[in-house]
Amino acid sequence: MADRSAPSLEDLIDAQIRATGPMSIATYMGLALSYPARGYYAEGDPLGTKGDFITAPEISQMFGELVGFFIVNCWQQLGEPASFTLLELGPGRGTLMQDALRVAAKAEGFLDSLHLQLFEANPALRLAQKQRLDQYNPYWADEIDAVAEGDPVFVVANEFFDALPIRQFVKGKDGWHERLVGLRDGKRAFGLSPTPIPESTLPEAFHGADDGTIAEIGLAAADAMQRLATRIKAQKGALIAIDYGYGTTQAGETLQGVSRHRFADVLERPGEVDLSSHVDFGALARVAAAAGLDVAPLATQRDFLGRLGIVERATMLARANPAHLEHLSAALKRLTHEDEMGTLFKAFCASAGGIEPVGFADT
Ligand code: SAH
Repeated sequence: MADRSAPSLEDLIDAQIRATGPMSIATYMGLALSYPARGYYAEGDPLGTKGDFITAPEISQMFGELVGFFIVNCWQQLGEPASFTLLELGPGRGTLMQDALRVAAKAEGFLDSLHLQLFEANPALRLAQKQRLDQYNPYWADEIDAVAEGDPVFVVANEFFDALPIRQFVKGKDGWHERLVGLRDGKRAFGLSPTPIPESTLPEAFHGADDGTIAEIGLAAADAMQRLATRIKAQKGALIAIDYGYGTTQAGETLQGVSRHRFADVLERPGEVDLSSHVDFGALARVAAAAGLDVAPLATQRDFLGRLGIVERATMLARANPAHLEHLSAALKRLTHEDEMGTLFKAFCASAGGIEPVGFADT
């Protein structure tokens, strides 16, 4: 239960702005999403039809099953190491991993070699993960890259990177000004930092942009990728991230608020509205490549799931249980159709150890 005598997150944020001045969007997002006990991801369960949004693994078991097949295939390509870490970032209710491991269990030796690690900020979701995954003895680490040394590492992240804070910069005549959250007439409002930063400090894609262009920079995502890529390079393995986003760094605002399956004002009701942005997979690819990983060509979710055999899987499940036919074909459409999640969502893979990831086109 929330402590009603305690100040609300809105009051805390406004007080901080009054005390120290306008804050970066990254700071605002960090507070709104993660402030202990009050942030959006700090309590409650945002997922599902009754929550704020629904994710691919919650739509159909097929999603997690195909990811399970993908991981087993990576493990086999590394020669079936007798001890490895499987780390999921932001596992939600644990549904993806439950479906993945049910399939992976069929590969002899896989479960015996598995150390399951979960990275999760939300105590309610940790509990849901424990309930679903207890038989695999999961371990929750507080640091994203706190994996056992030496063993290969496989990392799975579905709709995790979009939740990490971003900063925004707006091109002006004299350089790029950071977009900040301040107070105007007592209400939270966007403004610009008076001090510009030089264009050379931003990725090349933004150089020479027109006045008014918005650049989004995801330093938290880059940091997460950097830390994981270092472990994967040293210990072999792969990272697969599936999320909405774009393949090459590009201008434009994608920061959005969602509440109860509808778009909501980013600055209103912090802690109650989900805030996210489209993932800049181009930036993540640069970080992974600089750390020495092989980066597969980005695949649309539609192509990725299609190459892994989602249509065949749906057909098989429908044959086994004809009563599910309608549900299965609706799920298949939601996951793969271009008007739904099919092309907006992308699959990204970076690996080390000579893995040729299934589901991705050849380089
Ligand atoms: N992967 C799940 C859930 C996606 S929602 C699915 O596909 O259904 C985002 C997940 O990331 C949630 O589990 C959320 O609690 C977690 N999360 C968000 N920000 C986080 C952070 N900074 N650190 C750890 N976990 C975080």
